[in-house]
Amino acid sequence: MSGNNIKVVCRFRPQNKLEIREGGVPIIDISDEGSSLKFNGKEYNGNFSFDKVYGMNTAQKDIFDYSVKSIVDDVTAGYNGTVFAYGQTGSGKTYTMMGADIDDESTKGITPRIVEQIFASIMESPSNLEFTVRVSYMEIYMEKVRDLLNPSRENLPIHEDKQKGIYVKDLLEVYVGSSEEVYEVMRRGGNNRVVAYTNMNAESSRSHSIFVITITQKNVDTGAAKSGKLYLVDLAGSEKVGKTGASGQTLEEAKKINKSLTALGMVINALTDGKSSHIPYRDSKLTRILQESLGGNSRTTLIINCSPSSYNEAETLSTLRFGVRAKTIKNKAKVNADLSPAELKAALKKIKAEAVTFQTYIAALEGEVNVWRAGNSVPEEKWVTMDKVSKGDFKALPPAQGFKSPVSDELSRPSTPAIVLEKDEREEYMKRENELMDQIAEKETEIANREKLLESLKEEMGYYKEQEQTVTKENQQMTSELSDLRLQLQKMSYESKENAITVESLKEANQDLMSELEELKKNLAEVRMAHKEASDTDKEKKKAEKMAQMMSGFDPSSQINEKERQIRDALNKLDGESMSNEEIASLRRELAESKVLLEQHTKTISDLTYEKNNMESKKNDLEGRLNTLEHEYEELLDKTIAEEEAEAKSRADIADTITDIKSKLEATHAAKKEIQQKEIEDLKKELERKNQDHQKLSSAMADLKAANEQLQAALADQAAPAPATSGDLSEKEKDLERMRKSMAQQLADFEVMKKALMRDLQSRCERVVELEMSLDETREHYNNVLRTSNNKAQQKKMAFLERNLEQLTNVQKQLVDQNASLKKEVALAERKLIARNERIQSLETLLQDAQEKLITQNQKFETQLQAVRERLEQARSQQKTQSPMSALNFGRIAKPLRGGAVVPENGGGDSPTRDKRTSWIAGFMNSSR
Ligand code: ADP
Repeated sequence: MSGNNIKVVCRFRPQNKLEIREGGVPIIDISDEGSSLKFNGKEYNGNFSFDKVYGMNTAQKDIFDYSVKSIVDDVTAGYNGTVFAYGQTGSGKTYTMMGADIDDESTKGITPRIVEQIFASIMESPSNLEFTVRVSYMEIYMEKVRDLLNPSRENLPIHEDKQKGIYVKDLLEVYVGSSEEVYEVMRRGGNNRVVAYTNMNAESSRSHSIFVITITQKNVDTGAAKSGKLYLVDLAGSEKVGKTGASGQTLEEAKKINKSLTALGMVINALTDGKSSHIPYRDSKLTRILQESLGGNSRTTLIINCSPSSYNEAETLSTLRFGVRAKTIKNKAKVNADLSPAELKAALKKIKAEAVTFQTYIAALEGEVNVWRAGNSVPEEKWVTMDKVSKGDFKALPPAQGFKSPVSDELSRPSTPAIVLEKDEREEYMKRENELMDQIAEKETEIANREKLLESLKEEMGYYKEQEQTVTKENQQMTSELSDLRLQLQKMSYESKENAITVESLKEANQDLMSELEELKKNLAEVRMAHKEASDTDKEKKKAEKMAQMMSGFDPSSQINEKERQIRDALNKLDGESMSNEEIASLRRELAESKVLLEQHTKTISDLTYEKNNMESKKNDLEGRLNTLEHEYEELLDKTIAEEEAEAKSRADIADTITDIKSKLEATHAAKKEIQQKEIEDLKKELERKNQDHQKLSSAMADLKAANEQLQAALADQAAPAPATSGDLSEKEKDLERMRKSMAQQLADFEVMKKALMRDLQSRCERVVELEMSLDETREHYNNVLRTSNNKAQQKKMAFLERNLEQLTNVQKQLVDQNASLKKEVALAERKLIARNERIQSLETLLQDAQEKLITQNQKFETQLQAVRERLEQARSQQKTQSPMSALNFGRIAKPLRGGAVVPENGGGDSPTRDKRTSWIAGFMNSSR
């Protein structure tokens, strides 16, 4: 089984909508026998031949039957097999591998057909063969091997050893017992595939996916075992990066994907040019994994998928050339077998025989060498050759000293140290390589993790930056709000201050108004009182004036004093010198006259007293009448005003009433006036009489004065002649003494009398003046009463004044009200202010609280974030440690399958369980894309 070329089949799909829309036309002609095609492109015209070329309408079954079915048979027989799908995105790779509908008999792809075929051929095989089927599913994406059945394993290392060949370390293998279980595994793995969308084909994958089916069979009779691996590879699109329209991360992807494909191309070139000693399998993960499939131990079919359209000419040409190159690759597929004891025995026997031959050959050679070494020569025809030895020309020589039989020792150790060394070296090398691969994988994983971390950190940073921005924004907002609030606070405090000031000013104004009111009240009272007071002071003044006038008019004191002085002089003369008789007689006469005069005066005074009493009683009478009159008037006025107020509507009636009252008043006052006039006249008469009396008194006083002068003169005359006789003298002296004494006595009496008289006079005058003034007053009062009762203007003025008073009262009330309301308002405003201050304080505390909350929330959020991150990390690590296929209730245990005797459960395509699959397979087909 050596030297079989890989099978390359070419498949064209029908033109798609895009190609038709873009005016693409088919540019291929497939030859009739179906193994070559003519390419009629603009750039290139030529023929391509492959193992098979399928046209646009080839059925899925045909492809399977011709190109794949035999591989499945080989794999169940212990060979490795590979099916590649190569081509640009949208060329039909997935359609070919998986199909449009896995349940549709006509459109399902080769993978479901392979799976069915595997189980069918297992069931058909002899019953002494026991099979186990394992599957694994991986993806090469961005030059990393990812286990699709255990997606936490993202960068699996590729190992190689003598027994297993090249394999992906730690790749999960799941035992399966039926097609359904395989589909279930495929579905799970498909869900984990990385699919990047490009404008070439939204459904195309940007990763290489490798589905591996490992079939082991054991002959239970002989113990011989074989195992075959089938690689189903759906390569990523082979198109150039530019055409995918990929950019950014996807461009990076495309580069790496292209790297794998480029490496594939290079490997194929190296395998086919016939010159290269080194095949660069290790240049990419893809080529390394598929090393056995390309130029190695595998039966390989490459399906190149192409577009027939002129629109994709370049890509199709490139794909065709790739296929052509790959066609020349030679593989050396062999059965991977563990020999049975019988087979091993046969092999041992054969080897032993070979060993004997080799020993003979060596012995012969050594003999010849010894001859040569000895300086002799051996003729050419006697030279030892293998042919001669195998023909038996040479006998086996006895073994040289120390040379043990290789046969007896063969099983314990290899015969050729050089070969052993080589093998050891190789194993050592492989071990070392595996270690290195592990390290590389580890490092790569580490790098990837770091990159991820970096990414997440970047994200986090971005998030924090965003957060910070929002927080800053919020802060700014809050700051502005705070400043607004501060402003408001200031404004409010300012307003409150202003209000307080206003209140104070209002209080002041109120006080002013109150004081004004007080003053007005006082003024009113004063106005009311002024009249009385004015009259009182006037009275006093007038009284004083009149008194002065009256007293000056008839001041008797000067006359009396003069007389008194004369009398005193006369008496002094009498003391010093003797008076004549005539003088004495005249003195006496004068004295008698004076006495008469005094008596007259006394009489006048008593008369005046009487008159005064009379007048006083009259005055009292008048005063009483005046009082009653006033009282009556006041009552009347009050009544009128009350009536006027009460009946504002019937003003006409009131006017009538007023005129009535007025007339009544007038009548009353006329009567009063008459009476008073009469009284006044009487008083005037009385006054005149009194004046006359006063004049009389004055004349009496003048007489008294004259008498006194005479007396003085007489006394002066008496003093001039000296005393004539001493006898008469003593008598005279005695008389004189008596006279003098009596005169002194009389003078003293007179003085007392004069004083009393003067007092009496003064008091009388006062009385008279008072009476006169009271009369004037009464008159004035009367006139006033008249004026007030008669004068409409006065009445009006009174009314006006009263209205004013009322208004003032109203104003006062208003002011009081205002004051009260202002006080209330002030209290209210103060309360409001307090409330506002409280509100501000509460707002401030709220703000502070909010800020604190924000900070704590931030902290909480951070801790939460940290916790979430930790959880995530934990989950990741758990996922890594956990069995990824724990959800699958199969696959952990090998399920030996036997053919022949066992009735195949799912072997037939029309098994009753097939229907059950329909729904989830459809879902899988959707989800895997
Ligand atoms: P790829 O896997 O290479 O990116 P797909 O297999 O997804 O391409 O095929 C792209 C589209 O072309 C799909 O809608 C598929 O159904 C359709 N298609 C591909 N090959 C064929 C074919 N031979 N016959 C009919 N339709 C096909």
